[in-house]
Parts: sequence; structure tokens; C-alpha cells
Amino acid sequence: MDVRAKLAILADAAKYDASCASSGAKSTRAGSQIGSTEGMGICHSYSPDGRCISLLKILLTNYCIYDCQYCINRISSDTPRARFTVDEVVSLTMEFYKRNYVEGLFLSSGIIQNSDYTMEQLIAVAKQLRTVHGYGGYLHLKTIPNAAQSLIEEAGKWADRLSVNIELPSEGDLYQLAPEKKKPQIVGAMQGIRQKIDEAQQEQAAGYKPPRFAPAGQSTQMIVGATPTSDVEVLKTASELYTGQRLRRVYYSAYSPIPHADARLPGQAPPLIREHRLYQADWLMRFYGFEADEIVTEPDRNLSLDIDPKLAWALANRHFFPVDVNRASREELLRIPGIGVRNVKRLLAIRKHKNLRSEDLKKLRVAWNRAKVFVLTADHNPNLSDLDKLDLGKRMRPKSQQLMLFDAAGSARSGEV
Ligand code: SF4
Repeated sequence: MDVRAKLAILADAAKYDASCASSGAKSTRAGSQIGSTEGMGICHSYSPDGRCISLLKILLTNYCIYDCQYCINRISSDTPRARFTVDEVVSLTMEFYKRNYVEGLFLSSGIIQNSDYTMEQLIAVAKQLRTVHGYGGYLHLKTIPNAAQSLIEEAGKWADRLSVNIELPSEGDLYQLAPEKKKPQIVGAMQGIRQKIDEAQQEQAAGYKPPRFAPAGQSTQMIVGATPTSDVEVLKTASELYTGQRLRRVYYSAYSPIPHADARLPGQAPPLIREHRLYQADWLMRFYGFEADEIVTEPDRNLSLDIDPKLAWALANRHFFPVDVNRASREELLRIPGIGVRNVKRLLAIRKHKNLRSEDLKKLRVAWNRAKVFVLTADHNPNLSDLDKLDLGKRMRPKSQQLMLFDAAGSARSGEV
């Protein structure tokens, strides 16, 4: 099979992995002869799924000895198979890079022979790119579950980002659908990466120049909607990973049905809006001080699909409002629907000099229609009976709009909720 045919199979197989944003690499490697991690001069999209538009996103191989039921590459699937050699991946990356088609490489793999062997192959690609070709671009390696710690340490030397997929929200889900994968082992691998990142950061803080180790940190992917596990469990798992393993990002990927899937799997993908709501909730946990438990207010323990989670929280906690923008603490301001982190910072700065009026908020492009019921300003005192109205939620629901994808992309970038 020629490289082009392999590319068609192995790029397509990689589209199911969402955990590959190229953000986070601060600088090009010293001594590199080609490649920049800055976002300039990078233009063409390669990936067919529209997410990682400037990364060459491929699998080394889609052969796999595991049988994860949600995965098209599982051993029992009859999907067409292919395998790149190390040299082929290296040469493809360099060719794509030189033509400015991509700004980096995201490389994952099915498991062949065993975890260590597969990991060694991924490392060989990374090492060859860095040492033989002087490649200084972005490099994200997917860590193979159960690979030896020494190999993970080696991978971190060459990669900008490492990721280990948590795959499913709970241990029970894994037991059902990916019995070869164990949550403690996955979290153990993340912990190994975290320790090495911590060590490098501590040495740097102490004024030493430690060897680079995954400077863009680690991320993970969680598939949602493959099991009935609720959003609150999804968010609790994410929260544990953020605090325990200090992950940069948890990517949520709506389960996509695959041919000849196991009967336990749903026949339909969950609505895309569910992914979007999870990303919004994720921002609320990371930047707005919300706990996983309080974000989900619906009785079925899932996020509302109709309104954003911050508005849902406000409607379920009306006693907390109205919040006086001239006196409230940062934490309180962050809870007002329609006012994002950046605007809270600006409001705090401006109010040192003047009393804030509704005009000031509008000038800052606060989502006034969403915020006005919940805030007190020098010239605006909302009618308290509005806050008590039973149909307030219904009235605040956005009119249906078709821009959801752009919405999702914007919110994923800025995190303004
Ligand atoms: S180990 Fe990865 S590639 Fe293999 S079946 Fe599981 S999810 Fe798919």
C-alpha cells in the first residue's frame, strides 16, 4: 500500500480523537532549523473533522490488539487497516510542514504487539524529527496506556504535549466497554507525567535549565454519550483530573456511532450541543470557581441543553441575586450570567474610579439581556418580582439560532460564559 493510501486510512482513523489543540507551546526549540510554534504563517486546514485544522493528525497504525467497543479500530472491527513506518511519518510531517500545510503533528496509535513496543515507535518518530531534521514545530504524542514510565519520560523529552486518554467518565464504563483499560493505570500514567512536569518547573523556578519535558502540559479526552453516565459524573471526573493531575485540558468528544457496534452502545450520537454545554461547564469549573456538583441543576443530573450552565445555575439560585456590581466580590461577580472573566476584571478596575452604571456594562459588551435581571448598578435596580417569576427561565431562553457551531467554537476559545 502506498503512503497516500495509508494516509487516507490513518488520518481518517485519527479524527475520533479530540484531544489535540495546538495551543500552549510557548517557544520554538533552541537550535531548531525549521518550524515555529507561533501561530503566524500557518494557514491551511488538513483535518477533515474541522477541529484541528493546522495539525497533521494521524495514527501510526490502526491495527490494535485491544477491543474497546466504542472504537472503530478495535481488534474485532473489520475496518481497513494500515501501518506507517517511522520513516514515513517523519517524511510526511516534514513535507507537510515545509509546504506550510500544518503547524504541527498529532500522533497517536493503535496498540501493536504491546504497549511498550508501540510507545517506542511513537518516540522514534519524535526523536528522529527533533534530532535528525531539527524539527522545532509543535508535537503532540498520545501516550499508550500501560507503557513503562521510562518510555513516558523519554516521550516527554521530544513532545510539546503528552496526553493519556481517560476514555470514559467512570470506572464502571471502562469495565463495560474497554475491559483491558483500567482507570487506576490511566490515572497512574497521568501522575507520572505530572511529576516530571512538576520537577522541570521546580528546577526552572530554582534557576536551573532542566531538560524540556512536555512544556505544553498534558491533556485527555473523554467520550460522552457512549454510556448513560450523567454529565455530573463527567464533570466530577474532569474536576478530579484538573486538581489531581493538573491537566491543561479535558476534551469532551460526543460518541460517534461506528459500524457493527456492540449492542450496548447507543445507535445515535448525543446532540452536539451536549459537548458544547460540557465545555461551558468546564470553563465554569476552571475559571469561575464553580464546583462540578453545583453546575448541574437538572433533576436528571445532566446539563440543560436549552440554556447555558451559568444561567441555569442562576435560575436555580435566585436568592443569590441581584448582585451589586459596585460592591460585590470578584467571586460573586463571576456568578452573574452574561459577565465573563475578562469583564469582571475590567469592572473591578473601573469601579475604583467611578460608580458603575448600566451604560458602562453595555459599553463593555456585557450580555445585558442576560445579565439585567441579575445585577444592581448605580442606575439599575431590577424588579425583584421578575426574579421570582416562574417563567423567567422560559423568557431568558435564547431564541433558536443556527449558529451553534460558531458559538461553540467561540466559547471554546474565549471561555466567556
Ligand atoms: S486501545 Fe485505542 S485504538 Fe485500540 S481499541 Fe482501544 S481506543 Fe481503539
